Amino acid sequence: MPELTDRHKVLIQALISRGPLSEKDFHAVFNGVTGKHPANHQQLFNDYLLKINKELSHVQCELRGCRSQNDGRVFYGFVNNVADDQSELGTKYSVPQIAFYKCIVEAIVQDSSAQGCISDIDALNIQLENQMLNGAVSESQDNSLSVPAAFRNFSISQKEKTLEQLVRDKWLCSNPDGKIGLGVRSFLDLRSWFRSNDIPSCEVCNEAAVKAELCPNDDCNVRIHQYCLIKRFSQKKAERVCPSCGRQWRCVLPKVEEIEEEDAQDVQSQSQPLPRPKRMKLRSGAATNADTLLSTSSQGAPNGPDFRRTTRSSARLRS
Ligand SMILES: [Zn+2]
Ligand SMILES: [Zn+2]
Repeated sequence: MPELTDRHKVLIQALISRGPLSEKDFHAVFNGVTGKHPANHQQLFNDYLLKINKELSHVQCELRGCRSQNDGRVFYGFVNNVADDQSELGTKYSVPQIAFYKCIVEAIVQDSSAQGCISDIDALNIQLENQMLNGAVSESQDNSLSVPAAFRNFSISQKEKTLEQLVRDKWLCSNPDGKIGLGVRSFLDLRSWFRSNDIPSCEVCNEAAVKAELCPNDDCNVRIHQYCLIKRFSQKKAERVCPSCGRQWRCVLPKVEEIEEEDAQDVQSQSQPLPRPKRMKLRSGAATNADTLLSTSSQGAPNGPDFRRTTRSSARLRS
């Protein structure tokens, strides 16, 4: 098997030590390493990543691209596909801190309005004991159901400190309005976990729709990322209706020049979504350019907690 060259290794190192990197920054690294810019040498860029991922797959890692659902920007990162929470977060975070992170992720993905964030007050009010009793945290060493003191005593100030740290490390993000959303690192790392836990996906790109627009029809469960909606509705002759129920869908489109140039390519690939049976989501098709490339070896979810998600339909069933 041909070995990776130093150029390949520099790209991996850049993402390990400095990642996740925005597409722009990672492209700049690539340009520095190869003397060629991915914008003009897409095939070369793809070949590099495919080769790297082929090698990394032996150690169950990969370089992956994904969109931050907060702003639709593409990021690249180094992802360990066998990593459980302990190895990913565990080197830096304590067990209660990891449990706290899981609770926040759970609260965000369970939100039936798909806002992709919770208020900082809701975050600070999270009770780790509940997480423990829901079985979402691995059982304590002595196998008892009692809540460890570290969980009971996890104070508000510890939570505040943990929040800051998680935001700094890009596991979470802090929105301008003070709300807490998922950070780029979570979007990168939890991608397979979103799938295996049936987080509702975007009707256009099939990625998990953590932060998304809901179909204006209350009886329809369609969710679409705002950036996917803009792309779709920006196309000439595109009908501004829900692709599933046909209800008119209002969407404020930015002026053409505001649509990022970097998106040009996936506009192309998404302009003709694959036909698919109603209600059946393709799990691997129609991904964005970056995603398709970088998910070739993607498999195996991180050991996420067993989230019980709430969809609008299930919420309705209960009410
Ligand atoms: Zn989408
Ligand atoms: Zn609809």
